[in-house]
Amino acid sequence: MKRIFLIGLVLFLLGLNAAAGAAPNRETAIGFQLDTVITLTAYCDRQVLEDALAESGRYERLLSRTIEGSDVWRINHAEGKPVEVDSVTAEVIRTSLEISGISEGAFDITIAPASVLWDFKADPPRLPSAKELDAAAQKINWRLIELDGNTVCLPAGMMIDLGAIAKGYIADAVSAYLRGRGVESAILSFGGNIICIGTKPDGSPWKVGIQDIDRPSGEAMLALECTGGSVVTSGIYERGFDFEGVRYHHLLDPATGWPAWNDLASVTVLTDSSMYADALATAAFVLGEEKGMRLIESLKDTEAILIRRDRTVLCSSGAGAYHVQTR
Ligand code: ADP
Ligand code: MG
Repeated sequence: MKRIFLIGLVLFLLGLNAAAGAAPNRETAIGFQLDTVITLTAYCDRQVLEDALAESGRYERLLSRTIEGSDVWRINHAEGKPVEVDSVTAEVIRTSLEISGISEGAFDITIAPASVLWDFKADPPRLPSAKELDAAAQKINWRLIELDGNTVCLPAGMMIDLGAIAKGYIADAVSAYLRGRGVESAILSFGGNIICIGTKPDGSPWKVGIQDIDRPSGEAMLALECTGGSVVTSGIYERGFDFEGVRYHHLLDPATGWPAWNDLASVTVLTDSSMYADALATAAFVLGEEKGMRLIESLKDTEAILIRRDRTVLCSSGAGAYHVQTR
């Protein structure tokens, strides 16, 4: 009887050990890149997450507009001459042009002459003049970007800004890096961009909150379930200011350089690729609810949740699969 008990105890302890080996610890690493907080949470060694942050920094140094010597910086300072860029940069620009094409130019990375006029951190707020914005709008036209392999040519006086797509690209790249290091369970946040790897270790889906448009950052209005894939939100509360009763925000209409005026407060896009989700969230927002929803419905395996300023919620036809709930 005693022997059976001892054998049982040994087997039990062996079992515990095996379980501990199979389920790595939950680790979190936090970084600050591309003007946003990056939070990586995964079931793996901490070092793997630190390596992933370093990896992410490499992309930032290619895609940032403001880091001197980055690919984007070199394109913007080339005065019309061709620039050889990393294949990463070329891929992001190629996808940007694709999204410009399907969004009738609502998404346009040549937005930079207008976006640099908006300083959403200034206190008190400063509005650019209509004259300045008109002049900037003359320099916005994605069709004038020439991309041939890894060579980019932009007319002198124009500038690009990958702020609406770079974080998505980096999220995908970091996710692929982690999967390559054997990570099977993770949730990664790049500002408004969330990307999930697999499920939680117990097999249940990750829960992702969608920011409450009227509440402090971090308070969710909706929640949804995610088992792999990306959830990206663009909203007017992220960067912007109120001035004389008007909300000025960072989602700009390329035709005018002014914020896109419509009734939306945020657009969330759900699809596998974080790069597409990021660009499409900005595109759909600028297009407005009708055209934006039509664009999303035209795309395979892509869903959206639109929140109007009056807090009503519009979901695309397949968004139910994400079990969207009100908080
Ligand atoms: P974030 O998550 O940083 O708030 P978004 O994906 O919401 O970024 O995109 C907004 C950023 O993209 C702006 O800060 C600006 O740099 C750029 N942007 C603004 N309007 C457009 C547009 N119509 N097309 C492409 N990029 C844009
Ligand atoms: Mg975006």
